[in-house]
Amino acid sequence: MAQKNRDLALAATQAFRSAPLGHFYQGKAVSGAGPVYDVIEPATGGVLGQLHDATEEELNAAVGASRDAFEIWSKTPGAERRRALNRLADLIEKHADEIAAVECMDAGQCWRYMSQAALRGANNFRFFADMAPSASNGQSLPTPEHLNVTSRSPIGPVGVITPWNTPFMLSTWKIAPALAAGCTVVHKPAEWAPYSARMLVELAHDAGIPDGVYNLVNGLGETTGKRLTEHPDIKAVAFVGESRTGSMIMKQGADTLKRVHFELGGKNPVIVFADADLERALDAVVFMIYSLNGQRCTSSSRVLIEESIHDVFVEKLAQRVANLKVGDPFDPKTEVGPLVHARHFEKVCSYMDIAREDGAAIRVGGNPVSMNGGYFVQPTLFTGANNQMRVAQEEIFGPVLTALPFTDEADAIKQANDVIYGLAGYVWTENHGRALRVSQALEAGMVWVNSQNVRHLPTPFGGVKASGIGRDGGDWSFDFYMETKNIAFAMGEHKIPRLGA
Ligand code: NAD
Repeated sequence: MAQKNRDLALAATQAFRSAPLGHFYQGKAVSGAGPVYDVIEPATGGVLGQLHDATEEELNAAVGASRDAFEIWSKTPGAERRRALNRLADLIEKHADEIAAVECMDAGQCWRYMSQAALRGANNFRFFADMAPSASNGQSLPTPEHLNVTSRSPIGPVGVITPWNTPFMLSTWKIAPALAAGCTVVHKPAEWAPYSARMLVELAHDAGIPDGVYNLVNGLGETTGKRLTEHPDIKAVAFVGESRTGSMIMKQGADTLKRVHFELGGKNPVIVFADADLERALDAVVFMIYSLNGQRCTSSSRVLIEESIHDVFVEKLAQRVANLKVGDPFDPKTEVGPLVHARHFEKVCSYMDIAREDGAAIRVGGNPVSMNGGYFVQPTLFTGANNQMRVAQEEIFGPVLTALPFTDEADAIKQANDVIYGLAGYVWTENHGRALRVSQALEAGMVWVNSQNVRHLPTPFGGVKASGIGRDGGDWSFDFYMETKNIAFAMGEHKIPRLGA
């Protein structure tokens, strides 16, 4: 099965890897003339292919294509946009296995999770496709003298910049609402895992999405990404990535007053009270940090455990962590795969020393795993830590969990909120009053009570503090990709002051 999945990924990307990967705009593949960088396979450290950084001319051409196409796509009836996006969803479903295998290949994500990720991407298109016909709907806000009517229109060509952790799903999460709203898109995917984004833009072309509506440029963040965010014809930037990159993008976009939407990092707490269903809480804690190789923005990377159950819970946790199956991401049995890149591997490994220096104990793991030259680390559990330590404060973004004891509800809330981030929080308790109090008190954009992270597309997704600006999901997405206009119709002869009469 593992070999079959690997062959599938290699075959699906053969055409993109036989020469340095270029771009795709105005409905055509563009071979690329900029500098070339290697794309590395996380599971082996081997070179999969190369990728071109877009030149300024190429970036300008892609933006120009999106600007020209906006004139037509923004006026295309919503029902027609819905049909086009549903055709794309059909094609994603048809190619779901190839897409999943490609995510295993260049992002190092495990097959057991990725086999669903492509289907979730298709769902994102279907969900927003259905909303396209009503995207421009507004409100009627009458007064005795005026009928105020609001409506929405797409903001213009938008830049979408995505990270490498679950590249396909995250791209669809941004691109689907933008296209449904009537915007055109220039997408710059992450340079470390670029192949599924190229598959998506080609499928969109095959689905009949008109030329120039959806364009892709490859390249580095500091060159191509930066130029995209600075381009005056790009009206908004939807960005998913690190908090410090979000801050750079805000500066880069300042001169052109760019509208920005940021989904950034997290150091999400999962709070386990003594009265919780501890077996289910344990399952959720382990799943939410060690799935997706810990490279997940909503991962529960800090587990706060009530003192009275701390030692027992940690003991059970340690057994589960030690049992996790690290291995080939193409193998359906693998639970934890490799980290995406040597640079990220070094970052994650550096936290093993940081933990020791700060006085935490490495209860499980703590070492690299030597396997086929890939970037594997042991699933790791830090104990004996406190919330001021770097392993409790900083986003490590690997299969690494920090356990922290708390004394009571107030202490749990204080520790949970005492970080710069505020993306997600998880609360485990059978006491309903406490569940309500704690979930209200958490500084987070999203809280799950007695639950792992289960997404429902109409609900808002996003973070507070250093975890983001804005919300995705349902109508929140359209608020970002669209401008609202109010038109006031006078219903009679209201008073107009007569100056100079
Ligand atoms: P990153 O910020 O390094 O890169 C993300 C993207 O930004 C890449 O395409 C990169 O090329 C580009 N980029 C880098 N510098 C840029 C610049 N100056 N201008 C424009 N673009 C630039 O993030 P990453 O390491 O790829 O991804 C991991 C991060 O993403 C983690 O912090 C994780 O929490 C976050 N993330 C957040 C969410 C969420 O929904 N909140 C989801 C997934 C990942």
